[in-house]
Amino acid sequence: MNAEESLAQIAEEVSTCTACKLHSSRKNAVPGEGPAHSDLIFIGEGPGFHENEQGRPFVGAAGKFLEELLGTIGLRREDVFIGNVVKCRPPGNRDPMVDEIEACTPYLKRQIELINPKVIITLGRFSMARYFPEAKISQIHGQPKEINSRLIVPMYHPAAALHQPSLRETVKEDFSKLPELIERGASTDPPGDPEASDPEQLSLF
Ligand code: URA
Ligand code: SF4
Repeated sequence: MNAEESLAQIAEEVSTCTACKLHSSRKNAVPGEGPAHSDLIFIGEGPGFHENEQGRPFVGAAGKFLEELLGTIGLRREDVFIGNVVKCRPPGNRDPMVDEIEACTPYLKRQIELINPKVIITLGRFSMARYFPEAKISQIHGQPKEINSRLIVPMYHPAAALHQPSLRETVKEDFSKLPELIERGASTDPPGDPEASDPEQLSLF
């Protein structure tokens, strides 16, 4: 890793990136935001309408719910890093395509390396697929898996819980386990051993 690397540098590159076709329809790229080092990273899918307008992640209805969920465990959004699998809005909020995810993944990998979180929470199926390619969220939500000395916790996307109110309690319950998982993450070997196997190799992308 380049010693000069910083989140700001990555954000700068993202803001002018043309590596996939999503660049042509974006208003603002959304690199993600949060502290340079954080115990937790949340990885969503990609910017929606409001995120594209503001250049910030999770600022619409799903973001409001995410903030509420963070509040239930005593955290504010500034305490954690919040990012996405793709940094530019897919037109009309369509699903990101495999080539777009592939093109954008190096940014996310660099962000994760820098932030060096103990726990990575995937929100929705595109970030889940990075670590659990064959899994179904209904079967594995809230269950941590240790990969490369980090705990990866798949969770329902907050937008899914907004559309399906029955999921809200499930998501809250999954969130309530996070403080304990951060503790557990703290007691494993330090994350980010450069010699360790690359978890991204496990993914489809
Ligand atoms: N949904 C996402 O997956 N990411 C955002 O940034 C906002 C909504
Ligand atoms: Fe670049 Fe990612 Fe935006 Fe595509 S989505 S243009 S790879 S920053």
